[in-house]
Amino acid sequence: MMRKELQVAALENGTAIDHIPSDAVFKVVTLLQLQKLNNRITIGNNLKSSKMGSKGIIKVSDKFFREDEINRIALVAPNVNLNIIRNFEVVEKKKVVLPDEIIEIVRCNNPKCITNNEPMKTRFHVIDKELVELQCHYCELKIRKEEIELI
Ligand SMILES: [Zn+2]
Repeated sequence: MMRKELQVAALENGTAIDHIPSDAVFKVVTLLQLQKLNNRITIGNNLKSSKMGSKGIIKVSDKFFREDEINRIALVAPNVNLNIIRNFEVVEKKKVVLPDEIIEIVRCNNPKCITNNEPMKTRFHVIDKELVELQCHYCELKIRKEEIELI
């Protein structure tokens, strides 16, 4: 059997986020606030993928994310694979699930919305998990996936 070519360095312990659409890799970095971590992070992008054509992978050493942190990714990359790695072995695989509510992280696109005029957190109800459609809790504006602007 041929050895599978490694496209990104192996991880001893930590989290590997695989099958990220290439155009969402840096949004995932923002959503997980990886720029604030001191952990070793490997980002691979525009890698060959038989399933997707092109994909991105992010590997974070010695980091195991909380469920609510990880679910934020579903906003920009609903089909990512999450691999929890211990001792170079995948011990758990997870799928991201869009939560019922998105607090903070997304800006309301209505300039008159209270969240754009007062120092307060934005809050959205997820009204369609399949298509990723959100509705502002305060002004009721609906925002589609392609209109989502991260804070
Ligand atoms: Zn609003």
